[in-house]
Amino acid sequence: MEWSAFKKWGEWAAGWIAEYRTTLRERPVRAPSQPGEVLAQLPTAPPEKADAFETIIADFERIVPGAMTHWQHPRFFAYFPANAAAPSVLAEMLVSGVAAQCMLWQTSPAATELETRMLDWLRQAVGLPADFTGVIQDSASSATLAAVLCMREKALEGRGNREGLAAQTPLRVYCSSEAHSSIDRAIWIAGIGDNNLVRLPTAGARRGIDAEALRRAIERDQVKGMKPAGLILNVGGTSSGACDDIAELTRLAHAHGLYVHVDAAWAGAAMICDEFTELCRGVDEADSMVFNPHKWLGAQFDCSAHFIRDPELLLRTLAIRPEYLKTRHLEAQVASGAVDYSEWSIPLGRRFRALKLWFLIRAYGLDGLRRVIRNHVAWSVELCEMLRRRADFEIVTEPVLSLFTFRHRPDGVTGAELDAHTLRLLNAINDDGRIYLTQTKADGALVIRFQAGSFDCAREDVMLAFDVITELADAPPEGGRE
Ligand SMILES: *Cc1c(COP(=O)(O)O)cnc(C)c1O
Repeated sequence: MEWSAFKKWGEWAAGWIAEYRTTLRERPVRAPSQPGEVLAQLPTAPPEKADAFETIIADFERIVPGAMTHWQHPRFFAYFPANAAAPSVLAEMLVSGVAAQCMLWQTSPAATELETRMLDWLRQAVGLPADFTGVIQDSASSATLAAVLCMREKALEGRGNREGLAAQTPLRVYCSSEAHSSIDRAIWIAGIGDNNLVRLPTAGARRGIDAEALRRAIERDQVKGMKPAGLILNVGGTSSGACDDIAELTRLAHAHGLYVHVDAAWAGAAMICDEFTELCRGVDEADSMVFNPHKWLGAQFDCSAHFIRDPELLLRTLAIRPEYLKTRHLEAQVASGAVDYSEWSIPLGRRFRALKLWFLIRAYGLDGLRRVIRNHVAWSVELCEMLRRRADFEIVTEPVLSLFTFRHRPDGVTGAELDAHTLRLLNAINDDGRIYLTQTKADGALVIRFQAGSFDCAREDVMLAFDVITELADAPPEGGRE
């Protein structure tokens, strides 16, 4: 393609995006597709001859948008949000054009130094103390894997990387039964073994780890000759927003020499608002913390903020460099701005992810970002109260920020029948297309999750969710469906 043609199509693409974003309310949120529908429209073999770009674009418009679930839809209330605010999209357009590999300072000075500054902006914004240093990882899963590797190497004094795990004392890592699946996978990949991930019971309204259960588990494992290595805490669990008491559990874990990592992938963004920081109380004592600006803060995927108290440990774990150079080199790096961030993460190659944070934070200001999050929380709580006032609805887990779970509970319907009813209602809601919700389990029962988090969501969108939910719950069951 000639660059002159690129210019024309680039303008077309910017126009298409703006049109798409501003007309999303007219589309069903969840793709109405059946498996195989897209495959059936694609030639089975690649073209030998070049296609005209007009044809390629026409095929894109014909095949793709209609077969997408629209994550930027204002009424996307499923899972967690994956926002891509306009300033962030513009930054990514530029980044994809510049297309640099940002593994070393030398290969990308501006990307590196912007990353240093942006992560320090974010650190301040979420209220972490100045002794935390940040790095951008591709995902919370990667940050948590890095944290688990740090736990392993700290506990084994570096022997895991050198000797492998075969001859080592079995390590133990503790987390909540509400912990995200990325923790299980980090444990598998780190070679610690699923049997050594101790999922602790939770208690209380916040569904946090029971501190006494943690203490007993650590002491029991020590007696058995195993080595407790780390603790992973939840702030805003994926299922229903479970929150651990970071302050109390970190104190306990540190008294036993454990490394503490906090997974606040979704909820961390809300820490830019003073009134929500209480959920993260004690995080300043943890060893690392991750949250995803690519969820609720508006920076599109991927952009995960990983804050570390002791980057030396992370570098000893991940950096491939002679031992004797590390300390001096890191200090010199940080002092001069010339950090080689590839040593802070698992892949060598790195995208230029800091530009979207720079554009986003400046274009909104922290105040603008706080307004977005506060609205989502307020509207979600409002919806929760509206559902609570209906005798046939039950709020199963109370709102944690903008997330709560509920179910429709007609008279006399219980147990497995109630689960089947919940699933039917959820399917009816999602087939309807005006909103999109997903399910989870709470104490073994199927429940519907609601979270508001789309940047383009307005109060009316949340109110429409009430109409859709109650309208379909009130609808007489369809013949074949029941
Ligand atoms: C979304 C989420 C993750 C995984 O995030 P990725 O960036 O997709 O890896 C981990 N933990 C929690 C609590 C989450 O909500």
